[in-house]
Amino acid sequence: MFDFPRLILHSRKTDAVRRFHPWVFSGAIKKTEGELRDGAIVEVYDDSGEFLAVGHYGTGSIAVKIFAYQPLTDLEQLFLSKLTTAYQLRQQLGFVDCSHTNCYRLVNAEADGFPGLIIDWYNGVAVIQAHSVGMYEQRKLLAQFLQEIYGSRLKAVYDKSASVLFKQTAANEYLLGEPCTGEVLESGNRFVIDWETGQKTGFFIDQREHRALLSRYASGNKILNTFCYSGGFSVYALQANARQVDSVDSSSKAIELMKENVKLNDFDEANHHVFMADVFTFLKDCDADYDIVVLDPPAFAKNLAARHHAVMAYKRLNQLAIAKLRPGGLLFTFSCSQVVVPEYFNGAVMAAAIEMGRPTQILHHLTQPADHPVSIYHPEGLYLKGLVLKVG
Ligand code: SAH
Repeated sequence: MFDFPRLILHSRKTDAVRRFHPWVFSGAIKKTEGELRDGAIVEVYDDSGEFLAVGHYGTGSIAVKIFAYQPLTDLEQLFLSKLTTAYQLRQQLGFVDCSHTNCYRLVNAEADGFPGLIIDWYNGVAVIQAHSVGMYEQRKLLAQFLQEIYGSRLKAVYDKSASVLFKQTAANEYLLGEPCTGEVLESGNRFVIDWETGQKTGFFIDQREHRALLSRYASGNKILNTFCYSGGFSVYALQANARQVDSVDSSSKAIELMKENVKLNDFDEANHHVFMADVFTFLKDCDADYDIVVLDPPAFAKNLAARHHAVMAYKRLNQLAIAKLRPGGLLFTFSCSQVVVPEYFNGAVMAAAIEMGRPTQILHHLTQPADHPVSIYHPEGLYLKGLVLKVG
């Protein structure tokens, strides 16, 4: 058996762990035994000595990210079995070896039993992003297991954790295979993926189903895609014969990727207009004749303290967008701020509609797709929400 450091919780702070919530906050700890360091594997006990869980210790406000509720006997076996289960779910969802979509999320952190770990699959290249030192320390083992699971379908494993975990002191690196660039298919559309210098792991895979929904409404329409990044929504709209697509982002790298993707899919570039601009400014100045506007901003709030300002920013942004829709137009509006829960987001959008005084119907309530599952015990895992509104 192993001899892991132990954390003993205050008697009134054990309920969440017993209900399988995967986080222990530092304030719940009564005392510690053994030497603790960021990333260490630790055991969690109640104050009568009953074993509760095992996880990775962290020095932030989340003191433990739990990955098992039984004593640990074989870490490697446990991680291989969790990764295999995650893979089997994506198989069940139809993503593995799919002919028209070959990028998907393989591991979605807490929901797949790997708190602090993201693994995205890009047509043969797995991009790992660890958000905890404990998971980072398992990266080589994870790369080895990815190879066991995927065999010759795996060309490379790129670890992109350093940019979120250490910034200055460590570098992102290939754990397996040679440095390479990527191209994927999503619903038959082609996209170049730049995991090394792009945002997140390279692509916003979580918007796949919402892009497909846009394509159902796009034909013949004039569409504004704001915060467009690499042009996911724009490509689907052009594929579905939109009359005109205007794409806006403030990042030059995003604009470069988006132009590449529009070219790759052989669309008539005359139908696509590109603007490198701040969306708030753009929306104040642009024409008010769009059939559809897509609003997919970055997270406005990273913590609870910033939530109020974020809600106000969503209201302002949605108000500006509603003003640019012709009567009968559609607004696709999203929020990826985890702390802005659906009730708050819907409230902000409703307040925007009230300000504009236009009849407004909700056509679709949107959320993250099944390859970004949410553990029922960890509602904090829900971050993406959206609405499609018809504005009269
Ligand atoms: N809709 C995209 C993902 C959006 S990510 C997709 O489907 O892939 C958010 C994007 O907003 C990033 O590309 C970022 O560069 C851009 N951005 C952030 N703040 C902005 C602002 N004020 N004006 C314009 N773009 C902004």
